[in-house]
Amino acid sequence: MNTKHNFGAGPCVLPASVLQQAANAVLNWNNLGLSILEVSHRSSDFENVISKTELLVRELLQVPDHYSILFMQGGASTQFSMLPMNFLKGRGKACYLDTGFFAQKAIREALLFGEANIVNSSADKAYSYIPEDYLVDKDAAYLHCTSNNTIEGTEMFQFPHTSIPLVCDMSSDIFSRVINVEDFDLIYAGAQKNMGPAGMTLVIVKDKFLERIDQVLPAMSDYRIFKEHGSLYNTPPVFSIYVAMLNMTWLKDQGGVTVIEQRNIEKAEMLYTEIDRNSLFYGMAQGKHRSRMNVTFSMYNQQQESSFLDFVEQYGIVGIRGYRTVGGFRASLYNALSIESVIELVKAMRDFEHIYV
Ligand code: PMP
Repeated sequence: MNTKHNFGAGPCVLPASVLQQAANAVLNWNNLGLSILEVSHRSSDFENVISKTELLVRELLQVPDHYSILFMQGGASTQFSMLPMNFLKGRGKACYLDTGFFAQKAIREALLFGEANIVNSSADKAYSYIPEDYLVDKDAAYLHCTSNNTIEGTEMFQFPHTSIPLVCDMSSDIFSRVINVEDFDLIYAGAQKNMGPAGMTLVIVKDKFLERIDQVLPAMSDYRIFKEHGSLYNTPPVFSIYVAMLNMTWLKDQGGVTVIEQRNIEKAEMLYTEIDRNSLFYGMAQGKHRSRMNVTFSMYNQQQESSFLDFVEQYGIVGIRGYRTVGGFRASLYNALSIESVIELVKAMRDFEHIYV
């Protein structure tokens, strides 16, 4: 069993009970005498899994009936190109809010299919905040934003209200807090943070928005095909969807998104309070834009950073090294990370301060 405090940014910590059920299912699923890895995606047992997973998404995020839920592949990175391929190509331009590394990647892919107008950017301050003013072009195909910037550690707590369709990459904070799905026309997220293991990509899309697609597209890049075939046009990532179902059941048992959001707030506050108090560390993101999922911080004396990384090993803490282009530390506090893990990290920071100050 996992005995570490896993602060990794993704793939990341999953609840022990989910891992146990997944392990059992790998050996003998549903007493079928077969592994979950061996069953047909067309079997009634798996069809039950996919429909239950969809119901859980609907229930946990209060997804209205006029939205479709699609289980796709290729990660959020595939959505970066699939979105403009479906909605931007032939329409001239789309708008993008530039809030960091992944927003930049989305912009680069959009440019293959049309214009990508950057409505605002926080590049001027190393993406340490979320820009709040932007003028959206009324003729644009959509406005794209990133709800949580996994690398820079900023999160959007207010979403734009605009007359054009709103699209959001929610890869790293979906299911961590209450959202109003009706504010968006399309939401996408890779599975490997708060959903389950890597492999499946969730898309929640307004049916009316899908009606705008009027081009011939490769089947695997066409949202309409996934909708028509109930995400079973080809072989879906069976295991990833199965574990996502287990994980969403776990989330429901915890009390759902409202309850987990409170716990996530508590965990983030505990860690940011220590970062602000401790004389050795400082937070990298600006106050009200600080992410609850990915806490980025650094040391005033950068030469101490590698000693701190070695130091935390004795606490069983792993995964806090910052992204390679950003440096410093990043502690990811996804749903399944317990408050005890945060307490342990805070303790390590205090102990380190006692030694060095
Ligand atoms: N967007 C965000 C916000 C992410 O955090 C990530 C990956 N961590 C991606 C996109 C890319 O996702 P994937 O690796 O699933 O393609």
